[in-house]
Amino acid sequence: MAKRKTVWEDCDILVVGGGMAGTGAAYEARYWGRDMKIICAEKANIDRSGAVAQGLYAINCYMGMQWDENQPEDHVRYARNDLMGLVREDLAFDMARHVDSAVHKFEEWGLPIMRNEESGRYQREGKWQIMIHGESYKPIVAEAARNSADKIYNRIMITHLLMDEGRENRVGGAVGFNCRTGDYHVFRAKAVIVGAGGASHIFKPRSVGEGMGRTWYAPWSSGSAYALPIEVGAKMTQMENRIVLTRFKDGYGPVGAYFLHLKTYTQNTYGEEYESKWYEHTKAMVGEYIDHTPTPTCLRNHAFIEEVKAGRGPIHMVTMEAFQDPHLEEVGWENFLGMTVGQAVVWASQNIDPKYINPELTTSEPYVMGSHATCSGAWVSGPEDISPPEYFWGYNRMLTVDGLFGAGDTVGGTAHKFSSGSFTEGRIAAKAAVKYILDMGNEKIQVSNKQCEDLKEIIYKPLENYTVGRNEITGGTVSPSYLLPIQGLQRLEKIMDEYCGGISVNYMTNGNLLKRCIELLGILQEDLEHIGAEDLHQLMRAWELKHRTITSECVAQHTLFREETRWPGYYYRGDHMKLDDDNWHCLTVSRRDPETGEWTMEKAPLYHIVD
Ligand SMILES: Cc1cc2nc3c(=O)[nH]c(=O)nc-3n(C[C@H](O)[C@H](O)[C@H](O)COP(=O)(O)OP(=O)(O)OC[C@H]3O[C@@H](n4cnc5c(N)ncnc54)[C@H](O)[C@@H]3O)c2cc1C
Repeated sequence: MAKRKTVWEDCDILVVGGGMAGTGAAYEARYWGRDMKIICAEKANIDRSGAVAQGLYAINCYMGMQWDENQPEDHVRYARNDLMGLVREDLAFDMARHVDSAVHKFEEWGLPIMRNEESGRYQREGKWQIMIHGESYKPIVAEAARNSADKIYNRIMITHLLMDEGRENRVGGAVGFNCRTGDYHVFRAKAVIVGAGGASHIFKPRSVGEGMGRTWYAPWSSGSAYALPIEVGAKMTQMENRIVLTRFKDGYGPVGAYFLHLKTYTQNTYGEEYESKWYEHTKAMVGEYIDHTPTPTCLRNHAFIEEVKAGRGPIHMVTMEAFQDPHLEEVGWENFLGMTVGQAVVWASQNIDPKYINPELTTSEPYVMGSHATCSGAWVSGPEDISPPEYFWGYNRMLTVDGLFGAGDTVGGTAHKFSSGSFTEGRIAAKAAVKYILDMGNEKIQVSNKQCEDLKEIIYKPLENYTVGRNEITGGTVSPSYLLPIQGLQRLEKIMDEYCGGISVNYMTNGNLLKRCIELLGILQEDLEHIGAEDLHQLMRAWELKHRTITSECVAQHTLFREETRWPGYYYRGDHMKLDDDNWHCLTVSRRDPETGEWTMEKAPLYHIVD
């Protein structure tokens, strides 16, 4: 272990993850913290990292306040409705009131935003979405971050947060390793902003074997945003609210532009409209929520899932009509070429030309994230001007650990932020982090060499496990002394799939299944002490798996706690098949004790701030 070089860095603000939230944080931190030392540590390379790596075709969250198109209150109502009543309205409002200015920055920095030729306004795809030529969206925001931060460290996987030894419950930085050189990196920081994205591959994906890298959410989103704070005792919220997406089959191509702009629609295998068939059935489960407009995303999934279960699948997207219009046909293809090239390739390989064949849709495996039509993540303080006392403890977007901030997928309770809202939230968190540091005055954080050396030993242990155990290989890659990251990953995915409501059980679970799920995850965690990594890439995979497993445990604990089916179409509690507003019109909050590993769950009040 002594062989590994240690690179030390002392800074004011450390941004973990340079995705949409992280780049926003780096940019804004410099604006308010002119003389501060700002560092960003990113697992990949910020030019093409995170969920926006490949580009996007639309910015999904733009109010249009300059043209009085929407107001922040409207967006809160929209997000609340889509999440079946449950969002942190203070956070949602706060993001919405600032998001337009972030989008204007993107345009200033060179992002081509389409304009409506008649009105001169941004071209709307839907009420909240504007259309962009977004292949270079990520390099554009990355440039702003690079120009702002003192240093961007690419290829560093952050594995643990450091804690201040001078004051209880205060963060002191983070550590990780360079996935290419193997160097050990210690970042001692007064404030840390986590923007490490959501989690894919915690449930078994539909694409397995050679196709397993093809998932809807980015395959490299490994739950670090949740595991890092959970491990130091930060509280999490709404982790049961995993998301299931209706997407084009096998390529996970997005459907937003198709529904909203191309006006395509769905039908069952007999060419019938099916959503209205499930109206009474859904009403019996969720009451008047089914009458809301627009229909919440989960309830649309629910009709899809039921129709397929009834034997009338597959569900098709009717593209053959829209694609007769050459302009719409072009938009349909371009939508994928700037965002999900793989879908176009899948169609080509399966002889599907959407002009002549209506392509199949499917529902995805569940993902955990905080910025889409879902709001899993950390329990954070809101803004001082609108948050009720239970939602406010000093600094906007600070977690329940002092000096630890979050943004984007990291933050829970605030859905429908998407790319622009995540960047905006990064800006909000950074402004608050600067204030936090200024309020600290001359106070220093204390992080001992021992804390750093202990973590160093833990981080590289999988390499040692492999070196020691490899001579015992009994056949192929099987060793009695270690398990490999891919083997552990598949075991995790199987547990979550079968016990926590994945695809193979039609998203169904219940209390007993969840208790068993938690037991099996505990055994897996014991075994992960013996994970083996043959090289630095596999070392990264090992830590990604550990982060995914902790995230999964949190998801299972939350799912067990909420005794209702709040979001049919995302998951079902077979023992509580109805939405229960009398008992569960609240937020769920968890905490894992870092010393004992024990979880405690509580209900947090839900305040409706917007009428
Ligand atoms: C397929 C798809 C389509 C989408 N379509 C749209 C759309 O059309 N319009 C829209 O507005 N939004 C869209 N979104 C949503 C948008 O991409 C996300 O809301 C946004 O990227 C979330 O920002 P984030 O910073 O939280 O996460 P990310 O942007 O994913 O950034 C997370 C970063 O953290 C890094 N990281 C992770 N773990 C570590 C670690 N341990 N150490 C260091 N770094 C780490 C990652 O490499 C990454 O750079 C889409 C998302 C997907 C996946």
